[in-house]
Amino acid sequence: MSAQTCPHIDAVTSVKHPRKHECEECVKINSLWVHLRTCQSCGVTLCCDSSPNRHASKHAKSSSHPVIASAEPRERWMYCFPDEAYTEY
Ligand SMILES: [Zn+2]
Ligand SMILES: [Zn+2]
Ligand SMILES: [Zn+2]
Repeated sequence: MSAQTCPHIDAVTSVKHPRKHECEECVKINSLWVHLRTCQSCGVTLCCDSSPNRHASKHAKSSSHPVIASAEPRERWMYCFPDEAYTEY
């Protein structure tokens, strides 16, 4: 992926970090996840596309919240679903 921003990523002035290091939806259904992403519109932390339930991308589509940031401790990047834009910060 090449570094690239979009108006949604540019609008994120301070990155939201996870409240808890768990997928809030997987916890409810007693499922497991691979990696975690934090929605930059509402702050919910959900699982990535490598996880069985893909809650982060489902949330982005159903809520029209475009930008997620990685919630993994050593990763500092954001991704915008509608623009497929990726940037490190
Ligand atoms: Zn965008
Ligand atoms: Zn999940
Ligand atoms: Zn959201």
